[in-house]
Amino acid sequence: MYRQKYDVIVAGGGTAGIAAALSAARSGAHVLLIEKNAYAGGTAASGLPFVDFFNRNGRQVVAGVAEELMNRLFQEKASLGHIRTSGGHLNSVTMIDPEWVKIIAEEMLLESGCDILYHTFVCAAEVEGNCLKSIVAANKNGLTEFHAGCFIDTTGDGDLAKFAGAKYHQGRESDGLCQAMSLLFKLGDVDVERATALFSENPIKACPVGGDHEYNLHISGKLTNWNDIILKEEIFPHPDHNIWAGTMRENELTYVNTIRVSEKNGADAYELSEAEIEGRRQLKKVIRFLNKHVPGMEKAHITSIQNGIGIRETRRIDGEYVLTGQDIIEGRRFEDCIARNGYCIDIHDPKGQGWGVSRIQSEEQSYDIPYRCIVPERIDHLLVAGRCISTTAEALASTRIMPSCMALGQAAGTAAAMAAEQGQVPRNLDIKHLQAVLKKDGAVIE
Ligand SMILES: Cc1cc2nc3c(=O)[nH]c(=O)nc-3n(C[C@H](O)[C@H](O)[C@H](O)COP(=O)(O)OP(=O)(O)OC[C@H]3O[C@@H](n4cnc5c(N)ncnc54)[C@H](O)[C@@H]3O)c2cc1C
Repeated sequence: MYRQKYDVIVAGGGTAGIAAALSAARSGAHVLLIEKNAYAGGTAASGLPFVDFFNRNGRQVVAGVAEELMNRLFQEKASLGHIRTSGGHLNSVTMIDPEWVKIIAEEMLLESGCDILYHTFVCAAEVEGNCLKSIVAANKNGLTEFHAGCFIDTTGDGDLAKFAGAKYHQGRESDGLCQAMSLLFKLGDVDVERATALFSENPIKACPVGGDHEYNLHISGKLTNWNDIILKEEIFPHPDHNIWAGTMRENELTYVNTIRVSEKNGADAYELSEAEIEGRRQLKKVIRFLNKHVPGMEKAHITSIQNGIGIRETRRIDGEYVLTGQDIIEGRRFEDCIARNGYCIDIHDPKGQGWGVSRIQSEEQSYDIPYRCIVPERIDHLLVAGRCISTTAEALASTRIMPSCMALGQAAGTAAAMAAEQGQVPRNLDIKHLQAVLKKDGAVIE
């Protein structure tokens, strides 16, 4: 039975939202998770692998709820487990079956006692003074007002924080443009071994579910061999187009990441609609190209298209601390650390041409994310987690990966439950106590 007042309300049931709602409910709070889709998972249910649970030194830098989800997926043969990699920009890859994320994440949420409200869009907020009092959500029943002791924005785009009047930044400093978007898709009837052998640099070797031997099951490269065709047939506007793909099951590419839509604002409904249309327009050409020219993909057919184009970057909520690219490169430590990350800065050019990385230079090959990055500057009773936390555009290009989004979700959920229980504003929480609980719950924070 749904209520209208909860201890904690989590807006957005994606990568960070799952961890936030689960952790708040496990801490004893009455929690409502509101999700616009018909399932939990968000971008984590798109087929992408979780990258860099490990840093370059081989140390696991994210565990806790994220690791638990991976273990539960592994038990269902819906993950290949962590595969350590070397040579490329990745330290580890954890292939997962996106459909099973929807099943298992929901199972874990229900076990925690959390209420889940699907098909519901958080569309407004009421603020008194600096205090977020209630939110409005739209669904088949119309508009409903919900109250909570503490709210968490895990919409990816910082929707709730924006509706509450929080300050934010978007895009790179020079021109406000965000990283390019990519519409992900899944292919069936692929001879994966042949197709992936074409891209043998930094192979990621494992035996896919249903297979009988190990081989490179990941594509990370460029379509340079086909530059002439690509430019002549206007499949992509630039030569040397990037392609990433990977599988966890024999005969399928669980995700293909090659479509690129640039110079659109993913936090604007009109531009987002244009981006979706452009993504599918490209996809039609791409599948014909793959069938005709790429060995192993002659019979490939689209088995699913991601539910909504993949958005790498939109709003970054201004928090009490703004994590910078320099913090990441230097591997900075912070006293109020609530999550760690070992991923590089990985920027997909906002104009759609290419991609580049900057690596962490510190001996420890990882950096801290401080609690202050999830606390919005002015608005109380609100935390943010996932890719909309307080960073520069450069730093977002590292913090945005899924293990770190889940680690941030876990921290936000735990903190929100504490704040609601104590009747405290999140910015005044006892950080040492929060860190002790996170450690007890398996999070890596030191
Ligand atoms: C093309 C692409 C490739 C990537 N590759 C990788 C990779 O290989 N490995 C990796 O680890 N990371 C990768 N990432 C990054 C990573 O997937 C995302 O940054 C991360 O999943 C974001 O998590 P999140 O919780 O912030 O957002 P999401 O997982 O997107 O969750 C947001 C949720 O909020 C819901 N929502 C949004 N607005 C509202 C609203 N107003 N009301 C209610 N619900 C709402 C959405 O439906 C969604 O479920 C990639 C990202 C993209 C786009």
